[in-house]
Amino acid sequence: MTETIAAASDRPNEAPEAEALNGDIAKLRDAVLEKLTYSVGKDRNAASERDWFIAVALAVRDRMVDNWMTSVRGNYRDNRRRVYYLSLEFLIGRLLVDSLTNLGIVEPMRAALASLDVDLEKLRDIEPDAALGNGGLGRLAACFMESMATLSIAAHGYGIRYDHGLFRQTIADGWQHEFPEDWLEFGNPWEFPRPEVSYMIGFGGAVESIPRNSHPAHVWHPSETVEAVAYDTPVVGWRGKHVNTLRLWSARAPDPLKLDVFNSGDYVGALADQVRAESISKILYPSDSTPAGLELRLRQEYFFASASLQDLIRRHLEQHGDIELLADKVAIQLNDTHPSIGVAELMRLLVDVHGVDWDRAWEITVATFSYTNHTLLPEALETWPAPLMERLLPRHMQIIFLINAKHLDGLRAKGMEDAGKLSAVSLIDEHGGRHVRMGHLAFLGSHKVNGVSGLHSELVKQTVFRDLHEIFPDRICNVTNGVTFRRWLYEANPHLTKLLVETLGRGFLDDASQLQKLEPFADDLDFQARWAAAKQLNKEHLASVVADRLLIKINPNALFDVQIKRMHEYKRQLLNILDTIALYNEIRAQPMRDMAPRVKIFAGKAAASYQQAKLIIKLANDVARVVNNDPTVRDQLKVVFLPNYNVSLAEAIIPAADLSEQISTAGMEASGTGNMKMALNGALTIGTLDGANVEIREKVGSENIFIFGLKADEVAARRARGIDARETIAASPQLREVLESIADGVFSHDDRHRYQGLVDAITYHDYFLVTADFDSYRAAQAAVARRWRDRKSWQRSAILNTARTAWFSSDRAIAEYADQIWNVPVSRPKD
Ligand SMILES: *Cc1c(COP(=O)(O)O)cnc(C)c1O
Repeated sequence: MTETIAAASDRPNEAPEAEALNGDIAKLRDAVLEKLTYSVGKDRNAASERDWFIAVALAVRDRMVDNWMTSVRGNYRDNRRRVYYLSLEFLIGRLLVDSLTNLGIVEPMRAALASLDVDLEKLRDIEPDAALGNGGLGRLAACFMESMATLSIAAHGYGIRYDHGLFRQTIADGWQHEFPEDWLEFGNPWEFPRPEVSYMIGFGGAVESIPRNSHPAHVWHPSETVEAVAYDTPVVGWRGKHVNTLRLWSARAPDPLKLDVFNSGDYVGALADQVRAESISKILYPSDSTPAGLELRLRQEYFFASASLQDLIRRHLEQHGDIELLADKVAIQLNDTHPSIGVAELMRLLVDVHGVDWDRAWEITVATFSYTNHTLLPEALETWPAPLMERLLPRHMQIIFLINAKHLDGLRAKGMEDAGKLSAVSLIDEHGGRHVRMGHLAFLGSHKVNGVSGLHSELVKQTVFRDLHEIFPDRICNVTNGVTFRRWLYEANPHLTKLLVETLGRGFLDDASQLQKLEPFADDLDFQARWAAAKQLNKEHLASVVADRLLIKINPNALFDVQIKRMHEYKRQLLNILDTIALYNEIRAQPMRDMAPRVKIFAGKAAASYQQAKLIIKLANDVARVVNNDPTVRDQLKVVFLPNYNVSLAEAIIPAADLSEQISTAGMEASGTGNMKMALNGALTIGTLDGANVEIREKVGSENIFIFGLKADEVAARRARGIDARETIAASPQLREVLESIADGVFSHDDRHRYQGLVDAITYHDYFLVTADFDSYRAAQAAVARRWRDRKSWQRSAILNTARTAWFSSDRAIAEYADQIWNVPVSRPKD
């Protein structure tokens, strides 16, 4: 057992007494064996790694359940206000090491498994990622769930249990291909199915108006009903103290089979209703920031908003018995506009089902809801054609019209006459066919509307909600995003975490602000060496991942220059590729020049329908092929595109990053959270003054970040002057050379004109201002290379990035929501 104790002391965030540890190891071993035998039904000698994974997950889940029950009882007993986080996306990733970490039993479990000849790291890799989200928005929801549990908030997450999450990306001949992923194929050991918790969700049909004393009552007779069935996953906070529930809904047909049709021999027809119903929770829409304008998407939104509201009202009435108290006891956060049909649904439930009068119901609704805006991209501002909504949700359409009529009447009564202003704040967009503006509905139905970074929240006031902001000047606020340090530092980067614990003690694990005690070590050469050693181990690990997946050898001593995020023109992976080509040209022109070797690392998925983004993936891969196979380049430059970017891959890449690419067109990235994860792990940022980069610069200091390019207001001014880039290109010889080489087919010998359209697009119609920022980006990259050569100075900056990014913890973000928006108390793990 001495070895296991030694191993345990490697795990920095746990330091139980050795005896207790050994006791725990024995208990864990017994628990795992029991699960393997009685739940998985396998003998030790016949068990596969997957069997072991399931057995371990079930044993770990057991450890959460007691505290879960205690938390649930406490939530009832204390009568506290509950927080409901409604999100169409939860980008969770794997849960095994996450759960072990928060329960403080990583090393005891590792030792218990070792005594059974099972390797925890192998089990870790077997777990499929729960990818019920597209990117940053879904990952934020997952970080927030963890922080709400950590801060002991009585919180529930609500979403959809998609059978298939975000597609699996493969790269074949440089092109992206999408395949369905099947995360539930071997079951999901973390969840508890709750078949007894189900709600009827209606669609279509008609509304009957029944005369009553003063107001008619409205009864909706849907033509179709679908059943929402609950699946619960416990969400354990740091130190295992508080456990909340993530409740995901799955769709079922109320009658699974039409028996008479089946017996008549029509086997497919007998199942038609079931297929139609279950399609609602079949797949996640892979539509990062552009709404899929499909009826099924609206059905998903209403399905999960209605089930969640029915469920929380049932819980509220069981506990408090009085619907009038709803707003005192319930806060509902809308993660983007996807759940905003909930505003109309809550009105329907209050007025039609619970008999609350309209004005009082509206008061309750506004006091209950709050809404987070995630984007200013015009194509992402959700609207639904009024005829579609009328057909699918006839009662909700009536309610939306009535909310709108009262809203506009109120404004007219206050003297607002301007027809343009009134139409700008209307819930109905009358241009090009009537559409319901879901952002406006969420805004009106909420007491607070927040943006996700300081800059973004200001732009929300000036752009999408300018006119509504004038009418409700206190409604918009800011809560800058954050990330959970448990996943993105302790779990993803145990080498750095260990060094931090040895240097600072354990206090920072509970209170991230103590990371600032690292500042004095930034110039300490001995500490710098240990810091560099930790980074080096992470880079070697990533190099082995790259070698395994791509058969490309990368040099772990090179600068790892990383851009990992969804593929989108506004995120400007293209700008980075142009820089890569310019670097390649330099190396070939001056082969003897001693430059600092670099590895450009890309990863990211493009929405299946987003042709330009897919072409940019192909270009990255084409450039990689040419550069990596050119003998004059040697080890100076390598380019890799890692397929299937997801949370687990992010966990492998981020700790190894030296340079973090955050180069969006200013004004277009709402916040970013990848930027925070990499700064926390000691990467220096090269970025535009956009989203949370602004606050990262404030915190880390402008000498420890590389900022370049047009600022948000300059982007607006530049666009106003026109986006034809011919003059800009003519003025930059380097840029001209790069674009000519792409257009000439240097990277596409097999299809010389593959990129002609792409080059034409940025030449004549450079909406994302790639060309305008090219020279300043190149200059910033040159500054990066100079700094990298002065390795002590680089390390100093890297250490200061970690020391100064504590503010980007999602615990800080959630504490702000709790204080400014939800009005609920928080308590920290050590309280
Ligand atoms: C953090 C994260 C994102 C968000 O990255 P941005 O750079 O902020 O766009 C997207 N996907 C995954 C898997 C992440 O972990």
